[in-house]
Amino acid sequence: MLEANGLMVFYENMLALNNVSIRCDENQIVGVFGANSAGKSTLMYTLSGIIEDIRKKEEMAGGERISVLGNITYLGNEIMGLKPSKRAKNGIVLCPERRRIFKECNVLENLRIGGYLATPAQAKDTLEYVFKVFPALEKLQKRIGGFLSGGEQQMLAIGRALMAQPKLLLLDEPLLGLSPLMQVVLVRATKEIRDEKGVSIIITEQYARPVLPIVDYAFILENGAAVLEGTRDELMNNPDVRSAYFGI
Ligand code: ATP
Repeated sequence: MLEANGLMVFYENMLALNNVSIRCDENQIVGVFGANSAGKSTLMYTLSGIIEDIRKKEEMAGGERISVLGNITYLGNEIMGLKPSKRAKNGIVLCPERRRIFKECNVLENLRIGGYLATPAQAKDTLEYVFKVFPALEKLQKRIGGFLSGGEQQMLAIGRALMAQPKLLLLDEPLLGLSPLMQVVLVRATKEIRDEKGVSIIITEQYARPVLPIVDYAFILENGAAVLEGTRDELMNNPDVRSAYFGI
């Protein structure tokens, strides 16, 4: 479904992605694991095309020079030159790190904003689906985003991304700062979304352990480079990987 080859991203002279190649097949959940600053968000910005917006903004403000190289094929087409809005329309939807919901809007308004590209029928069906996956949100429809807990905000961020009708959902560190219980709820919901909606998912996390049970395949990023990859079982059965990356 998506294949990225030789991705390189420089922030000025700082190499944030170093020749990264990853792929996500139809109906797969692919994990990308790495420590702070490994390049996870940069990778998500590059796949979603947001990096182009960041690059232009910096250029116009006379800020840092950002260079992006490599190829991304999505559903058989090269999309590296495609704007992020076009990529979103084609089904690549980013749920960014640290939630980024509209804090002054209520839950329902946040979800409706997410569905602005959807047809009225799609928006209605998806709203029902979001409330099925996250029943807590249905009860909180009128609650202002900024007053939600971290876990509720993350549910809302994923719900809003679903409203945009993704075929490939990019989840950037959805578990960051959440309680173990909330992490279990979100990991379960992520799997449910793939199983029920057939959405392919790339999920990044600093700690692989909570997410590993649901991924089909995973990549490990270190200092901007993909240093290791394999199926869940291959990674789990490698003793060095287990102790170094999964804490088990
Ligand atoms: P985290 O878990 O902290 O979010 P990450 O794996 O998502 O980390 P990135 O945010 O992609 O990592 O950052 C990769 C590297 O690029 C880091 O060294 C970071 O400091 C640097 N970096 C990220 N954004 C910029 C920027 N706009 N300008 C300069 N350097 C940046």
